[in-house]
Amino acid sequence: MDEMEEIEIVIVGGGICGLATALALHRKGIKSVVLEKSETLRSTGAGITIRTNGWCALHQLGVASNLRLTALPIQGGIDICLANGQQQEISIEMGEIRCLRRSELITSLAESLPPGTIHLGCQVLSITVDPLSSYSIIQLQNGRSIKAKVLIGCDGANSVVADFLGLKPLKFFSLSEVRGYTEYPSGHDFKNEYNQVRGDHSMIGRIPIDNKLVYWFVTHKANPKDVVAKDPELLQQLTLETIKGFPTEMLDMVKHSDRDSLSLARLRYHAPWDILQESFRKGTVTVAGDAMHVMGPFLAQGGSAALEDAIILARCLAQKRHEIDIKTNGSQVIAHKIGEALDKYVKERRMRLVRLSTQTYLTGLLIKKPPLLVRFVCNILMTVLFSDPTAHSHYGCGRL
Ligand SMILES: Cc1cc2nc3c(=O)[nH]c(=O)nc-3n(C[C@H](O)[C@H](O)[C@H](O)COP(=O)(O)OP(=O)(O)OC[C@H]3O[C@@H](n4cnc5c(N)ncnc54)[C@H](O)[C@@H]3O)c2cc1C
Repeated sequence: MDEMEEIEIVIVGGGICGLATALALHRKGIKSVVLEKSETLRSTGAGITIRTNGWCALHQLGVASNLRLTALPIQGGIDICLANGQQQEISIEMGEIRCLRRSELITSLAESLPPGTIHLGCQVLSITVDPLSSYSIIQLQNGRSIKAKVLIGCDGANSVVADFLGLKPLKFFSLSEVRGYTEYPSGHDFKNEYNQVRGDHSMIGRIPIDNKLVYWFVTHKANPKDVVAKDPELLQQLTLETIKGFPTEMLDMVKHSDRDSLSLARLRYHAPWDILQESFRKGTVTVAGDAMHVMGPFLAQGGSAALEDAIILARCLAQKRHEIDIKTNGSQVIAHKIGEALDKYVKERRMRLVRLSTQTYLTGLLIKKPPLLVRFVCNILMTVLFSDPTAHSHYGCGRL
């Protein structure tokens, strides 16, 4: 049998959260290894809106300045109701909103990591605990086993690490979303603003990335056809059917979109009431990003919240590192101290995530046009709990 490898910190998943966590640790002088199951780093979903709080985290990671060069600042928003043609301004935060190409964000994080940090083609199958050391033992699909002092699950919504922690199953919104890019080779003349058009059962949103590229999404009631819509051409056709009767400008945008950029996602969430009580730490194992708090895209905060996780988790581990003496402390003592650092991280994140996921959840419910009574209750809760609807983006993750 192969000897088991020992690695100090293992991060499962090389998405936004896993890479950001590895980079945050690296900035604090702490080595880690990222295990990514795919053979390449993936950037499914075309664009990603990063709000003020996300930019604060990117700044701490040292990648904000370069990323800013790739995307225009969004300066406002317009909402149009198709039924009555009414237009209204959408209040956006005083701060910074830009829509990035996901590939740009992933590349920027990955390229800032020391060589050898990311291990591609490494799918984690299961996790157990070594009773002697209290560290975790990770079983990979390729037959390798790794013993890790710290294990951080950034493996997204279908997280193996979340299963190990015993987190509650995800719930489904009755909504799906198609996302894509459209390139305007000689430039588009849209303003630097977010535009959305709401129909009876669907909604389209458009955000310029730069002067030639726009990111768009169509949110619609989940549909049995969603299952077969993996083929980009079919997905494009179905999306055009979904937004029949919408303004020509929007229809043309979808018609001329880059088919390779299209993707469809059934929207899921980790219920706010579960986030309030989950045990996000077992031994020296924890989770971050979608593995911890997948939420609907209605506030465009999932990715920014994942970046916040990365900063706070790295900070908590770095603070504890000074209390650990590898030469004199036994593994049980080290595991205990790591556990304390992870508890601090979870404590710092929990209420932030409960608020964020509650606001996202209520916004999602309202988009679905629920019965009058439900709408009434949701509106009251929104007014009472979130009187400033953009306050979620004023959160600061603090210094790394
Ligand atoms: C339709 C839609 C629109 C969105 N729009 C926005 C937006 O505008 N702004 C925003 O901030 N957020 C948005 N989000 C949310 C955002 O995309 C996610 O919150 C973010 O991508 C989470 O990153 P992550 O790294 O936690 O997870 P993921 O991006 O899912 O990455 C997980 C990684 O782990 C790998 N992995 C999984 N299992 C294993 C395993 N067993 N072993 C090894 N590797 C594994 C996967 O291959 C993947 O690379 C949106 C989400 C959706 C669905």
